[in-house]
Amino acid sequence: MIGGGVTGLSTAFALARSGRRVRLFEASDRLGGAVQSETIEGGWLAEAGPNTLLLSDPKVRTLFDDLGLASELRTARPEAKHRYLVRNGKLWALPTSPGSFLSTGLFSARAKFGIVAELLKRPRTRTTDLSLAALIESHFGREIVDYALQPFVSGVFAGNPAKLSAKHSFPQLWEAEQQHGSLIRGQIASAKARKARGEPRGTIVSFPDGLATIPRRLADRLPAGTIECRAKIESLLTDGAWKLVWSRDGTTTTESFAAVITTVPAHALARLSVGPLGERPLAALDAIEYPPVASLFLGYRRDQVAHPLDGFGLLIPALERRALLGVLFSSSLFAGRAPDGHVAITVMMGGASSPDRAQLDTTAALELAKRELASLLGVTGEPSIVRHHRWPRAIPQYNLGYERFLDAIARTEANHPGLFVGGHIRDGISLSQCLTSGMRLAERASNHALRAS
Ligand SMILES: Cc1cc2nc3c(=O)[nH]c(=O)nc-3n(C[C@H](O)[C@H](O)[C@H](O)COP(=O)(O)OP(=O)(O)OC[C@H]3O[C@@H](n4cnc5c(N)ncnc54)[C@H](O)[C@@H]3O)c2cc1C
Repeated sequence: MIGGGVTGLSTAFALARSGRRVRLFEASDRLGGAVQSETIEGGWLAEAGPNTLLLSDPKVRTLFDDLGLASELRTARPEAKHRYLVRNGKLWALPTSPGSFLSTGLFSARAKFGIVAELLKRPRTRTTDLSLAALIESHFGREIVDYALQPFVSGVFAGNPAKLSAKHSFPQLWEAEQQHGSLIRGQIASAKARKARGEPRGTIVSFPDGLATIPRRLADRLPAGTIECRAKIESLLTDGAWKLVWSRDGTTTTESFAAVITTVPAHALARLSVGPLGERPLAALDAIEYPPVASLFLGYRRDQVAHPLDGFGLLIPALERRALLGVLFSSSLFAGRAPDGHVAITVMMGGASSPDRAQLDTTAALELAKRELASLLGVTGEPSIVRHHRWPRAIPQYNLGYERFLDAIARTEANHPGLFVGGHIRDGISLSQCLTSGMRLAERASNHALRAS
């Protein structure tokens, strides 16, 4: 196993549980990858990376049961279903029902008509991929792209919907169009199918100690001696069995394995040397776009914030030309994020639309955030808590043409039996998708070992 993020740990847990001997190599000195929760003295809890997990896949529920985490799950407070959106400098509550959609002043009558008319779309099989923006525009019109899709995509991918591939970034929409025509009818049909299977609705969750509970618990359940941190993979060699060469503090070690699984980001895969001549079969993956993102966790006294913070947070369309990607009302989402009489707000900046802002130092980022929060939420004065985290390569963009990367991965696996590649570059970027990616990788590697034995 190479990589100690949630994908790698989920793979290792599934393999160990099925009785396989497993070793996990993590280059840094900590596990969890992008998942980093910090308990701060005085009753604060900050997330540097992901803040929420959308729990909808039954396999993830089962994993949490197996890890004894079900009773520790915390569902987002009911008011988290409200989201705000900025339009013309003003905050609007996003409609949450057909009635509130028809009455909102957020969208024009034309945009509302476009949504109703979308229900009449016929199924359509496309032969070529198109951008997510083009797909949504062809169904709902431009206003919905600018004031619904774009800010939503900024929140999920920190990306640009005009570049993201409809087929790869949101495959459920691509399939809904083929099967149902209307994307709305597709969503209704999949909700009905889920109900018929007896599965509950997806819920937004975390844990009292934050999302880092997941990698911590996965690691705790691995047999002693499984994990090597600060272990840099030098190369992979094969002569029937796989030989993994890794180093720490100048000392190099070689270990043999029946299979090697990697869950590392694209730039690390691109540098991975496989074979005696040092070939780099995944070098092409270096071209995958990974925009930088910075998160700023800010703690304030309640009386410093005029807005009630009664929701999930704030989506900010690029057309509004604000300095932020979005804002999460962290202490409204989950209990225990701020002490009594205080609130916690998490600001995201950077992304594909404004990568430079993700590189600002803490003083400059804080000045920018304070200016924007003052005008959007009526925040005054200095925050009592500041945690700034910069992610130089945050989230891989499944842009148009992403097949060439997926093809390179599939070709490499076919040319090197016993090598398995997964994680957020291949199987979806959400935490839930990374956890299931890990389970699938474990199954594929186990089947390979069975065939080989
Ligand atoms: C700022 C931010 C916010 C996000 N918000 C959300 C959210 O709210 N909800 C959600 O569902 N998802 C969110 N995501 C996405 C999600 O967190 C990630 O897609 C997911 O955590 C990726 O997990 P992973 O294990 O596949 O990869 P990673 O977390 O990147 O882990 C890969 C690991 O491999 C290690 N590694 C790299 N190279 C080597 C090497 N050569 N040898 C050994 N180890 C190596 C790295 O150190 C790292 O620990 C967010 C991501 C970011 C960055």
